Amino acid sequence: MVKEKKTIEQLEKELEEALALNSQLIEEKQQDMNLNYAWTGNLGHWYWHVPSNKVTFNPLKITVLGYDENELPKEVTYQYFTDKLHPDDYEKAMQIMRNHLQGKLSVYEVEYRIKAKDGSYRWYYDRGKITKYDKNNKPELIAGIVFDITEKKMLEEKLEQQNKQLYELSLTDGLTKVRNHRALIQILEEEIRKSDESDKPLSIALFDLDFFKKVNDTKGHLCGDEVLVDLGRIMMQNVRSSDTVGRYGGEEFMMIFPGTSLDYAKEICEKIRLAVEEFKFSCDLKVTISAGVCEYDKTGISDAIRRVDTLLYKAKNNGRNRIEA
Ligand code: GH3
Ligand code: MG
Ligand code: MG
Repeated sequence: MVKEKKTIEQLEKELEEALALNSQLIEEKQQDMNLNYAWTGNLGHWYWHVPSNKVTFNPLKITVLGYDENELPKEVTYQYFTDKLHPDDYEKAMQIMRNHLQGKLSVYEVEYRIKAKDGSYRWYYDRGKITKYDKNNKPELIAGIVFDITEKKMLEEKLEQQNKQLYELSLTDGLTKVRNHRALIQILEEEIRKSDESDKPLSIALFDLDFFKKVNDTKGHLCGDEVLVDLGRIMMQNVRSSDTVGRYGGEEFMMIFPGTSLDYAKEICEKIRLAVEEFKFSCDLKVTISAGVCEYDKTGISDAIRRVDTLLYKAKNNGRNRIEA
């Protein structure tokens, strides 16, 4: 059968029909997308035609960044978006895309920060896949979907920060703000483990206020509390950042000196004893402290605590306001 030649009018009619059908399909696709936007943060689909480097995308992807649709260049390239990536996320996103293009990753999937018009950043979760290869088996079309996950990220960051604060609180003594008993034991166990595994020395001291009951009895518990706060501060001021100061309980404080020999630990304790003796505490109080200090001898935590305790007892028996080693 001989194929009938079409007239221009016929061709125009067919094109019109095709265009009408196309716009109907696009509209349906848009409705479909709109339904999908019910997913939190969904910014819709994007398509990257690799050979022409042309990106077709839902305008939401750019309007949430504060841009107006008519601000867009005539042809949007892949780089139009990647140029806006946060410097710390740029290489990661590029590498993931490279890996996907090279077939090392089955999908392109990444979270990144992207710069808004006002200079702030929003978090996007982006996921795409090569949907078409050319006849040389080179990627031709990549289709993806992108979500704005800024709120989720901010919530996560806030929770993380709160967790950190709570963790810190769980290890801090409420009154004096030095480490609490739980933290002291944790740190001591850790330092003992390190010392057991090496030949680095470790020294420990236990301090106790002298006649503290009398302070409470004569000046009241509030004054007593203030003395404890001041004492914690004096101790902190006289140790190195690698040392630990904690409230072991009541009016007893423990210090942990990692990598420190007995002689040096004794020197620090003596410095603190003198500083306390000279300090004028709240409520016009003068107080003194006694301490036991020892070097860990690899016999375990209980034995170490027992030894400083015995030495502290000895300091008390030998007249108080002194350090026994
Ligand atoms: P010593 O020289 O033998 O240590 O005499 P002391 O009076 O200090 O000894 P003791 O251990 O008998 O008394 C400790 C006192 O510390 C008892 C308690 O009232 C007081 N204390 C413990 N914790 C706190 C606190 O958090 N605040 C106040 N204000 N006092 C406390
Ligand atoms: Mg005591
Ligand atoms: Mg005491």
